[in-house]
Amino acid sequence: MDDPKAQIMCALTHLKKIVNTAVKNISPFYITKPWGIAEQPDFINAVVLLETTLSPLKLIHVLQEIENKMGRKKVQRNGPRVIDLDIIFYDNFILNHDDLTLPHPRYSDRAFVLQPLFDIAPQLILPNGQQLRDHLATLDLSTITRIETQ
Ligand code: ADP
Ligand code: MG
Repeated sequence: MDDPKAQIMCALTHLKKIVNTAVKNISPFYITKPWGIAEQPDFINAVVLLETTLSPLKLIHVLQEIENKMGRKKVQRNGPRVIDLDIIFYDNFILNHDDLTLPHPRYSDRAFVLQPLFDIAPQLILPNGQQLRDHLATLDLSTITRIETQ
């Protein structure tokens, strides 16, 4: 909502301030046509590599604090929001907790997650043993458009 690029820049500023955590890499940004509900502005998606000593649960709670600080309100699922911070992978942890599922349960069909992930981790092997590169080749990339970050 509002200015999605500015929202992502703002989120990055917050991520850089998380205790015991370093932002190691930031992907290019991608414009994505909204999924599910058509009558809303385009989304912008990006993937960030963090190095942290926070536990997965601590990290998701910190990310949720950032979402709240940025004014995210509980709205429609898949609907417009100022920011959405998800954890896709945390090393190769598998977790099924009320607050956190790892890996993220819905990453594997999402070009807007996997293309920026590939940009910063081209050698990544997915939890099923498949090369990210090979899986990405099966997805429809026409739904996303890379934009200039600068
Ligand atoms: P979505 O990201 O699917 O659009 P929300 O951001 O509203 O939806 O998240 C809904 C819930 O998903 C949150 O309460 C959060 O605790 C939970 N959740 C479970 N696994 C994850 C994950 N890997 N990353 C982010 N949130 C997660
Ligand atoms: Mg989320």
